[in-house]
Amino acid sequence: MTNTEVLLAIEDLTVSFDGFKAVDALNLYVNKYELRAVIGPNGAGKTTVLDLICGRTKATAGRIQFKEKDLTKLSEHQIVHLGVGRKFQTPSIYGNLTVFENLEISFPRGRTVLGSLVFRRTQDIRDRVREVAKEIFLDAHLDMEAELLSHGQKQWLEIGMLLIQEPELMMLDEPVAGMSVKEREQTAELLGRICRNRSVIVIEHDMEFVKSIAHKVTVMHQGKILAEGTMESVQENEKVIEVYLGH
Ligand code: ADP
Ligand code: MG
Repeated sequence: MTNTEVLLAIEDLTVSFDGFKAVDALNLYVNKYELRAVIGPNGAGKTTVLDLICGRTKATAGRIQFKEKDLTKLSEHQIVHLGVGRKFQTPSIYGNLTVFENLEISFPRGRTVLGSLVFRRTQDIRDRVREVAKEIFLDAHLDMEAELLSHGQKQWLEIGMLLIQEPELMMLDEPVAGMSVKEREQTAELLGRICRNRSVIVIEHDMEFVKSIAHKVTVMHQGKILAEGTMESVQENEKVIEVYLGH
C-alpha cells in the first residue's frame, strides 16, 4: 500500500552553531506510513535534524510542518503531545524498574481526562503494556528489572516506551548499533510492523539493515542532502560512494 500524503515537510531548515551550519537549507518530505532511512558520514548533521524536529535544538531558519503546525515554534513537550516520539542513541530506561513498570510509566496519562484516568488505570493499561511487550519481543520478561536485559532488549524496551504513546512519527537514532545479527533481524521486523500505522525516520550506518527496511533513503553530507531515492539508486550514486559508501 502506498500513501502519498505528506506527514512531515521540512523546508529550508538551517541551524548554525557559532557560524558553522550543521544543517544547511535542508528540504525533506516524509509521507504517512513511510519508513525513511537517513544515512551519511559522521558529522553530516543527521542527529541534529532529529534534534530540530523534536525541538531540542532551535532552528536558525526554516520550517518543520507537521499536521498543520510548525514545530520550530513549539516546545519539546508540545511536540511530543502532537505525536512525535524520539529514541536517542543511548536508551533512557529505568534500570531499577521492571519491563512492565517501564512501559506502564510511559503510558500517556496526560491525554485522558481525570475521571477516566482512575477508571482506566488498571485493566486497560495492563492489557496495552502486555500488547506492546509482545510487539517488542519482551513478553516473557515483563517482571525482569530493565538493567538485566541485554543491550538489544534495552533498545527494544525504549522503542516500546515510545510505541505505547502511539506517536504518528517515530524517530530512531542508530537503533541496531551493538546488536547481534539475530537482534538486528528482529528489529527490522519490528520496524516493518511499526510503520504500518505511523511514519518512521531511522538514522543507521548498517547498510544491510537499511536495505532491509527502508522505503526511501536520504543521504546527508555537510548538513545537506547528497542523494535521495531507493537504496539501489543511492548505492550506485557516484557522490555517495565517494563520501560515504566507498570506505
Ligand atoms: P551526525 O549525527 O550526522 O554524525 P551531528 O548532527 O551529530 O552529525 O553533528 C553535525 C555537526 O554539528 C558536527 O560537526 C557536530 O560537531 C556539530 N554539532 C552538533 N550539535 C552541536 C551543538 N549543540 N553545538 C555545536 N556543534 C554541534
Ligand atoms: Mg549522529
